[in-house]
Amino acid sequence: MEINLTEKNENKIVFVLKDTDHTFANTIRRVMISETPVLAIDEVNFYKNNSALYDEIIAHRLGLVPLKTDLKTYNLKEECSCKGEGCPKCQLNFTLNCTGPCTVYTKDLKSQDPKIKPVYDNMPIVKLLKDQQLEFEAVAKLGKGKEHVKFSPGLIFFRNYPEITIKKEANAAKCIKSCPKDLFEVKDKKLIIKDITKCDLCEACSEACPDSIEINGSTKNFIFEIESWGQLTPKEILEESLNVLDEKLDEFSKKIKSL
Ligand SMILES: [Zn+2]
Repeated sequence: MEINLTEKNENKIVFVLKDTDHTFANTIRRVMISETPVLAIDEVNFYKNNSALYDEIIAHRLGLVPLKTDLKTYNLKEECSCKGEGCPKCQLNFTLNCTGPCTVYTKDLKSQDPKIKPVYDNMPIVKLLKDQQLEFEAVAKLGKGKEHVKFSPGLIFFRNYPEITIKKEANAAKCIKSCPKDLFEVKDKKLIIKDITKCDLCEACSEACPDSIEINGSTKNFIFEIESWGQLTPKEILEESLNVLDEKLDEFSKKIKSL
């Protein structure tokens, strides 16, 4: 197996995973989406809310606010030494008290732990008119995407690595025009591919020029994209998913030995 990084920034990585199969790639993807824990608001106690939105709607919006997550400090509630009762090792509180006229933003949430705060300061929660007031206490905990999508760490997907064959007498002008991703160019009188990783296998080129181009998706090489919502870095998402998979396999192996 081989990993080649093709794109990396704060919230996104793209890499080519080589010499593996669809089952392995999809296992990693599913573990990342549904088993990698992140923090999210899970409970809200409203003390005052005479805004235009019901408590339930505001609570739902708060649940979807991405919170910077520290996996070293916090445990999953069900795995915590408090046995799920809730303690500073598995949950934290946010408070908010705003009086209108104003727009309440995520930056108005006051966190009990200075390390943990909303990823984005300027997400609107609700608009308050004159004399309207919103006051609540919210409890955030670690959770997994399989429990609720608010605990999902990002948008993660992969596609088959494109395999493009350009035949000898290719109609260059027609091929270049057919590709919506502008993938082809002519160099030294030959039709070439600029950046094959940009191809999303739409097959527009092979449909427009069946005599010039043949296109297939590889069954052992894949292009993986991890786009984080901001709670964890893309690398942390990948690393944590492998830890989770490791633990699951260890547990499975122990169970088998005890049979
Ligand atoms: Zn606890």
